[in-house]
Amino acid sequence: MPIYEYTCHDCKRRVSLLWRSFADAEERSAACPRCGGTNLTRLMSRVAVLRSEDSRMDDLADPNAMGDLDENDPKSLARFMRKMASETGEDLGPEFDEVVGRLEAGEDPETIEKSMPELAAGEGGGMGGSFTGGDDFGVM
Ligand SMILES: [Zn+2]
Repeated sequence: MPIYEYTCHDCKRRVSLLWRSFADAEERSAACPRCGGTNLTRLMSRVAVLRSEDSRMDDLADPNAMGDLDENDPKSLARFMRKMASETGEDLGPEFDEVVGRLEAGEDPETIEKSMPELAAGEGGGMGGSFTGGDDFGVM
């Protein structure tokens, strides 16, 4: 579940969106979690999940590094998320652990997100807070 940052040209805010998959992030149009506008520009400079600057991130950005990721397989997605977490060395918080644990149990990502409203709660706390430092945060 990649997280990208966008600038919303309607409300002039920087917002973050959590996508179910890399394919969705590429193919679906983003909607602002704050105002609902669709006039968004993705900030290519930073993917929040991969925000560390060191060179290992280049390896992760390499499509080959994602070769074993099956976005339709929750367990594969969980493995990938754990790998990314260990590469970044960051504490991604209890929500991350819960999401990954449930993926490993075979739950559908969409079901998990619906059952965890804090993922989309926006300001303060939750995964949004830990990733984005308080930007408006949405789940696509
Ligand atoms: Zn907006």
